[in-house]
Amino acid sequence: MLKSSHTLAAMLLAVAVTNNSATAQEESRAERVARINAQAAITELWEPAPKQVKPASAQTPPSDAIVLFDGSSLAAWESVRGGDAQWLIEDGILIVEPGTGLIKTRESFGSVQLHVEWRSPAEVVGDSQDRGNSGIFLMEDYEVQVLDSVDNPTYVNGQAGSIYKQHIPLVNASLGPGQWQTYDIVFMAPLFGSDGRLTRPATFTVFHNGILIQNNVTVQGPTEFIGKPNYRTHGDLPLALQDHDSPVAYRNIWLRKL
Ligand code: MG
Repeated sequence: MLKSSHTLAAMLLAVAVTNNSATAQEESRAERVARINAQAAITELWEPAPKQVKPASAQTPPSDAIVLFDGSSLAAWESVRGGDAQWLIEDGILIVEPGTGLIKTRESFGSVQLHVEWRSPAEVVGDSQDRGNSGIFLMEDYEVQVLDSVDNPTYVNGQAGSIYKQHIPLVNASLGPGQWQTYDIVFMAPLFGSDGRLTRPATFTVFHNGILIQNNVTVQGPTEFIGKPNYRTHGDLPLALQDHDSPVAYRNIWLRKL
């Protein structure tokens, strides 16, 4: 009996101890949570809040984009030879008019996110660099190649998606002739010091049809057909599209300043 009483007391004590330690543990857990939250709050930033931007849909660019061609007009463009751009607009599509020369935006830009949709001609004419050649020149000087690169051998630093004569695309994400393709380009403009010296080279990141083909590559200087590139000092410059004697088509051209 005595033994039983002792046993009961021991059991009650054990329960009490358990309850007490449960309460103590509960409080310490709450305190611990508060301490961790306070520590975590030190590295939380609540401002500046990013500006709200409505993303692009199939029909519309992002809400903060500068639309350069929406199918209706070439008002944002001019010929590099002077005067209005002479390329054709047919059914909302911009088509290179061979022989009229490059066109460029009237406005100048620095670092940008650029979206361009393009299509090489359905009728396959020529080969290598003479098949569906055009190009997207950031700051008039740095070309992302446009070319029909399906079953069309050419030098690989000149195929579609190359940074012409400087960087081979990581993969060939090309669709065939006559099919619409997309480039989504992040271009960081070169920076120059007050003495005119290059302080940061330009870089390209390019997605071709949603596939990463240029991953933050460094540009060695302006695109050159012959010889090594060398930077020359400049500020913001227009975006240009190349006339390379092929009726390549464009649509939905927009950019966001970075
Ligand atoms: Mg070209």
